Amino acid sequence: MNQQVTVRLNGILGEHLAAAVAQLSMDTPYSERLVVQDVVRDPESPRLFEDYAGDLSGRYIDACGVAFELGLPFDTEKAQRILTTVLNTQNPDGSFGRPGAAGMLDHGRAWGHGRLLAGLLRAAAWSGERNAHRLRDAVPALVRWFAYSADDWVEWLADPVNQRRKFLLDCYSCVLPLVEYYRQSGDETALRTAGRLAAALPDRLEGVHMHGYLLALRGMLELGVETGNAELSEYVLRAADRVATGFLLPHGGVLESTTTPWDINTEGCGIADWAMLCARLAELGRGPRHATRYEQALFNALLHAQHTSGHFGCETRNPDATMLHADYAPQAWWCCTFHGVAAIGYVASRAAVVTSDAVDIALPVSFRQVVDLGDHTIDVEVTSAYPDSGPVDVRVSSTGDLPTILRLRLPRTSVLRQVLRDGETVATRFDGDRVVVDLPDGKATVRFELEAALSFEGRGSRTFLPMANSTEPDIDLTEGPWAVYLGPRLLAASSTTNDLEDLLRIRALQISLHDGIVQAEDGRWRATAWGYDTFRTDVTLEPLATTDRGRNDAATRISFPILVTSPQSVHDPHEQHPHEH
Ligand SMILES: [Zn+2]
Repeated sequence: MNQQVTVRLNGILGEHLAAAVAQLSMDTPYSERLVVQDVVRDPESPRLFEDYAGDLSGRYIDACGVAFELGLPFDTEKAQRILTTVLNTQNPDGSFGRPGAAGMLDHGRAWGHGRLLAGLLRAAAWSGERNAHRLRDAVPALVRWFAYSADDWVEWLADPVNQRRKFLLDCYSCVLPLVEYYRQSGDETALRTAGRLAAALPDRLEGVHMHGYLLALRGMLELGVETGNAELSEYVLRAADRVATGFLLPHGGVLESTTTPWDINTEGCGIADWAMLCARLAELGRGPRHATRYEQALFNALLHAQHTSGHFGCETRNPDATMLHADYAPQAWWCCTFHGVAAIGYVASRAAVVTSDAVDIALPVSFRQVVDLGDHTIDVEVTSAYPDSGPVDVRVSSTGDLPTILRLRLPRTSVLRQVLRDGETVATRFDGDRVVVDLPDGKATVRFELEAALSFEGRGSRTFLPMANSTEPDIDLTEGPWAVYLGPRLLAASSTTNDLEDLLRIRALQISLHDGIVQAEDGRWRATAWGYDTFRTDVTLEPLATTDRGRNDAATRISFPILVTSPQSVHDPHEQHPHEH
């Protein structure tokens, strides 16, 4: 059955996405000349990373595809001209831009061409007849270029000297779009090429570029899914857990590379890949931790890496990763802006699966999805306070029969307070991580009341409160650093609402084992924090990422070296109070 799906994203994610997409139509920095400069050199005015042939131009074309799919406005005439210019640079061997020797191992080309293939695969949908016929020839020719250059890369990867390079995985940029091309075309060459590269992936995780590594893993996961190769999928699952254990910050984002302790920053692209990889692992049912990880990355790190302008970029961290501040390349318009768009588009397109029988909601944010099933159309509209506390209202309508089952993934950091169907309390049941509601005849408006739970995470283990009913604290309060969450959102202490000097002096956050910390009337969270000797201060905590993106550049404390419990707790481990000597 050929079904047409239309998705429109609203709410907080929709707002962030629209701000980024609006940049595509701007002439600064995205003049047509600048966008295509990686395939049409401009010696008069060189730009950053123009040696990565197809990287920026391909990502630009890809981001236009996301905008088109989600109904966001962009300058289609400009996009068409850019696409035409790029297609005009294709060489007889299938590559783009400046021609190179058949055996040339060029990282910039290998990486950029992978991003370009991803963009071209999406372009047919929005470019219409003007370029569609040219894409039908250009894409298979590019796929054949990957096929013959893969042998050289496999040899190159086997050399231990090359395996020590940070950008050794550049040639894996093509794996994911090759699998996607196979899905669209059935071309076995694409799948074989992806398989040859996947088999050659060096099993080391030291000093590699995280964006490249995660992009490779995402490609390998899809290859495993497509070929039924369970070993490949298991490998990716283990690799994802290694990344989570070693290279994750409290806001759910990954470091720019696996070069610790020297890595001083994150990269929006790596964070975006991490969110997409974990979202896919969650979708494939590989465990609840993946959904928690992707939401944490999405609602905190990714949105925090977005700037006032709408561009996504990078963040700088202090040496022990308890604070984020801004002294590193802030807006990465050559990559992160597009990959941020890709990530939000990715989760939006997977927010719900609608069939004639059931509606399955994987991400309870605000969106609308209309599915044309041929003989009838089903319209699902979600109006949601999530990731904040509040109602998630689902309205299902249809031009024919209504689905009879509504399923909603209950986020692990939410409390399900109440479920109403057409305004009346209704019985629910659970199926895995889904809360299930029946939709008998005509009953198609359901409200899920979700409350964001307060939790604390340190060294990978999360503690929900209250826990004053336990005979002893489950948590070793000295095993930090500790971060505070409200639902999936990180509560951080920004220097826009706290004194920066105080934030630098804080060593411990005081919590109550029963209440955690207390929300003030203004909605902000306040707690006492301690430092050396007699230093005490009140600290104000707020969600790290909000639509007030102007705050994202300000120095912000994202975790606390230790927690101390407030004196009134009967289970207070006194020896852990730094002031009691
Ligand atoms: Zn980037």
